[in-house]
Amino acid sequence: MDNIEWLWGRWLKIMLKGLYVLGPMFFVFWIVKPKWFSEFRIKQPVDKKPLFLKELLLTMLGLSVYLIPLYLMMALQVKFGYTKMYMDPNKYGKFYFYFSFVLFAIVVDTWFYWIHRGMHTIPLLMKFHKTHHKSYNINPLTSYSFHFGEAILNMLSYAFFVLVIPFHPAVLLFFGTMGILYNGYIHLGYDIPEKWRGYFPPLKIMYSARQHAIHHHEYAHNYAVYFRFWDKVMGTEKLEPRAK
Ligand SMILES: [Zn+2]
Ligand SMILES: [Zn+2]
Repeated sequence: MDNIEWLWGRWLKIMLKGLYVLGPMFFVFWIVKPKWFSEFRIKQPVDKKPLFLKELLLTMLGLSVYLIPLYLMMALQVKFGYTKMYMDPNKYGKFYFYFSFVLFAIVVDTWFYWIHRGMHTIPLLMKFHKTHHKSYNINPLTSYSFHFGEAILNMLSYAFFVLVIPFHPAVLLFFGTMGILYNGYIHLGYDIPEKWRGYFPPLKIMYSARQHAIHHHEYAHNYAVYFRFWDKVMGTEKLEPRAK
């Protein structure tokens, strides 16, 4: 297999996913800005200019890093026949097939919570994380706007999952889009599901756009990405912004 051709093809696919998931969010909420969405807008305590172009380029770089686990997975399979990917959904039973989707989210969320806390406390990692926190007025282009060092660290949970835990390709297919969508949502600057959180209990366990906006505005609290679990358990959760 031609490695360059493979990498190029995968890179294009990742970029296209980023474009068709984050593009419409950015276009609707940050260019068109329909009035009926204004009630969902998360208030900016200080109005700072968004850094669209810089964020776009860094997000393209941040997304490109996910080529590493994909390449590793492919190379190990071709060279040594090593793979944790299985094609028959019944191989480990139906329960495991569905549970592996949840497991993927748990692995990514747990790693992100702890490495993110590390990036707020360990000097070397703090340097990496500064790039993401340059974005104060967050928008979908901020989603993967990371220093290269941080992008590598964030990606490790994906690498761990695809190299160690048995998974069906549907899990990767689902999170290839859903991961970008959820990251776009928490950086949207609008919290659309907020109104329905009280009526729809599953939304209550999910980490929200408002929580992540508080994280960017206050440079503290709310370190997770998908679930409220770790912030609740570790006492780092904050649901309301600091009073001025
Ligand atoms: Zn942070
Ligand atoms: Zn962020």
